[in-house]
Amino acid sequence: MRPGEGPDYIVCLECETPCYTFEWRGSKLVEAFCEVCGNDDIDLFVTEEDFEALSSEGSRDGFKEYLEE
Ligand SMILES: [Zn+2]
Repeated sequence: MRPGEGPDYIVCLECETPCYTFEWRGSKLVEAFCEVCGNDDIDLFVTEEDFEALSSEGSRDGFKEYLEE
């Protein structure tokens, strides 16, 4: 990911689907909408990079810890 630009897509944590409907400002997500499950809570989306990092931790506990931070 290049500095100052958004990711190609983000991942909805509700249904783990890549989403392309979102708005990125500066270095963070400001708006997002999942067309699959209707989720529009930006706290429930992660970038592709974060999703891969979370996935590599093995279990859904990774997601839980991420959300509780
Ligand atoms: Zn979703």
